[in-house]
Amino acid sequence: MKILNFGSLNIDYVYRVDHFVRKGETISSRSLQVFSGGKGLNQSIALGRAGVPVFHAGCIGEDGRFLLEQLKEAGAEPRYVSVLSDMRTGNAIIQNDSSGDNCIILYGGANRAVGKQQIDLVLKDFSKGDWLLLQNETSCLNELIEAGHEKGMVIVLNPSPMDEVIRTVNLQHVDWFLLNEIEAAQLTGLPENQCGKELLIQALQQEFPSSKILLTLGEEGSCCAADGQVLNQPAYPVKAVDTTAAGDTFTGYFLSEVLRGGSVKYALDIASQAAAIAVSRRGAAPSIPWRDEIPGIKL
Ligand code: ATP
Repeated sequence: MKILNFGSLNIDYVYRVDHFVRKGETISSRSLQVFSGGKGLNQSIALGRAGVPVFHAGCIGEDGRFLLEQLKEAGAEPRYVSVLSDMRTGNAIIQNDSSGDNCIILYGGANRAVGKQQIDLVLKDFSKGDWLLLQNETSCLNELIEAGHEKGMVIVLNPSPMDEVIRTVNLQHVDWFLLNEIEAAQLTGLPENQCGKELLIQALQQEFPSSKILLTLGEEGSCCAADGQVLNQPAYPVKAVDTTAAGDTFTGYFLSEVLRGGSVKYALDIASQAAAIAVSRRGAAPSIPWRDEIPGIKL
């Protein structure tokens, strides 16, 4: 059983600010750091560091070649990433404030060049029962879901960022939704920050009756509805320094433990431990822990 992550690869520019820039305002940044990033790449790095030999597919420009090295260093296999000479790698401008919160502007760049031809070529090497991990930072999300479904792959979707594209996609083929509260509210049409996790889970189950749902709730933990039961997992209390990639770390470690045959309960616990470590460190990919840093690992 193989896992393929067909996802974004970005260069992250992280600006440390006292507060997020407001309309019409110019502010000075205390520092600038450049990291590898993108939900796709972060999730592959999390899977790789969790010890799962994930295959990564996607597109970058020449400026992003260092991202391939970072994937390899984490134990992820980047052979399905196309390097396009006429495009810039996708990037993100991240403002990070003193309380550890962030806000982000994304530029899709080469991530928007994922097309049907590349999808068909890559998926030729995968078969029924293999897992396909997707986010919403590349082009052709619908084609990816359809192609994976036709192959009989297990489709995992992190519908992030939530935008109009998601509404045009056939989500009924998704086997696992991994999403946060805001994405869940937007997907179900419920008001944001105003309804509890029970209501969100219920609405998601109603809309996607054959899918499993994993809802993350920041420092409130996570909640998973799968195989007829709902499991709640508290977050591990830590001093949050930078929450970037908390969700990606959670995704990578949750999937790694499920793929190793662990129970959902165990996978939730390990994913929470890994995500707590990630929020206690700065940066996106660099904050993702290695497997031997997670105290509760048993498998
Ligand atoms: P991001 O987009 O920043 O990567 P997200 O919104 O997708 O994150 P969250 O729900 O914020 O995901 O966080 C994912 C998981 O990370 C949570 O379920 C929790 O286990 C852990 N986590 C997040 N914030 C904290 C925190 N402040 N302290 C401890 N654990 C946290």
